[in-house]
Amino acid sequence: MERIDILIVGGGIAGAALAYALSVDHRVALLERETHCGYHATGRSVAVYSETYGSRAIRALTVASGPFLRHPPDGFSPGPILHPRGALHIARGDQLEKLTAALIEMQPLAPAINPLTAPECLTLVPFLRPDQVGAGILESGACDIDVDLLHQAYLRAARAQGAIIRTEMPVIGIRPDGDGWRVDTPAGSWQTWTLVNAAGAWADQVAQLAGVAPVGLEPRRRTVTLVEPPAGLDIARLPFVVDIDESFYFKPSAGMLAVSPADETLVEPADVQPEELDIASAMDRLQTACNIQVTRKGRSWAGLRSFVADRNPVIGFEPRIPGFFWLAALGGYGIQTAPAVAGLAASLIRDQGVPDRLTSLHFDLATVSPDRLRR
Ligand SMILES: Cc1cc2nc3c(=O)[nH]c(=O)nc-3n(C[C@H](O)[C@H](O)[C@H](O)COP(=O)(O)OP(=O)(O)OC[C@H]3O[C@@H](n4cnc5c(N)ncnc54)[C@H](O)[C@@H]3O)c2cc1C
Repeated sequence: MERIDILIVGGGIAGAALAYALSVDHRVALLERETHCGYHATGRSVAVYSETYGSRAIRALTVASGPFLRHPPDGFSPGPILHPRGALHIARGDQLEKLTAALIEMQPLAPAINPLTAPECLTLVPFLRPDQVGAGILESGACDIDVDLLHQAYLRAARAQGAIIRTEMPVIGIRPDGDGWRVDTPAGSWQTWTLVNAAGAWADQVAQLAGVAPVGLEPRRRTVTLVEPPAGLDIARLPFVVDIDESFYFKPSAGMLAVSPADETLVEPADVQPEELDIASAMDRLQTACNIQVTRKGRSWAGLRSFVADRNPVIGFEPRIPGFFWLAALGGYGIQTAPAVAGLAASLIRDQGVPDRLTSLHFDLATVSPDRLRR
């Protein structure tokens, strides 16, 4: 039986970033069930970094992640992780009050956002239908994330620091063992002081393996489909475009437009596939908002964004169960928040509290702690 300090279940972005943060001074093992670590949510995102997206806690975690993503440590990544894109939030004439409210809500943490008139929105995205755009907000600092580069860099750097990373290694049993945990896989068992549950959509199932109550995780399917852009238009510089209700969005992706109906269908954790109805819905919403006749479609995919009821992450030790640490419910924000989420988790595991950078952003630990779900 292998003995280590910290065992992480799940090799998505959350587990990989934490393995990197902790392996500098702990013996860490990361066990991933699939043949590669980015098989589930991490490999299926739309790769956007937006400091205006999500709750206050999410926005603080995103802003706190920015410096690492913009300027990773020397030798960490073979190329830039973020690429400028910009995000345009659009509202119809009947949604302008929502747009104003969103602007007021967004500004404190992301001051680099600007209200745009309808003509300014149409200059940025000429194929929007004029009757569908009353005004907009431009977040010029929004970026594309090179997710695979970031994820692989975390795994590579963690390995270089001594972390053990095993794929095709499902965790099938977890039980208390002395002061720690015994973790079983089909290929053998591990002994660890701290068990980190970074199992994405399966986090409640992993908790139950350990006899820990679930947190009520809701895996929600989201669909993305690629379509041919309007003929003759150079789309490379288009911003990410999202409507103020987040009922659809699109962005350029390898010469095509990646479009999502922003679906959130509650499903059981699984290797989800796109449904025809959701693809049709993406087409419909795109063609309602834009002057586009979709003539050619590319591939489509779906993935799980997992939430708890308040849509904040679950990060921290399970109350009254020593050594069981949650790193779950990262919703639609797990990539853009990965550096700060891992930094917070590592600091809590080291019993060092909330990192200063997050405190300075008025981050409230209670909003992500598992304690809030146990009252
Ligand atoms: C369509 C879509 C668009 C998105 N867009 C964005 C975006 O633009 N920006 C952003 O920041 N985020 C985005 N997200 C969200 C982001 O992808 C997730 O928040 C993030 O990937 C979650 O990472 P994770 O490590 O928690 O989960 P995962 O990547 O799912 O990793 C969990 C891993 O745990 C493993 N596992 C489960 N059970 C076991 C077990 N028993 N033993 C061993 N391993 C196990 C799984 O195989 C899996 O690999 C999007 C998601 C989707 C689906």
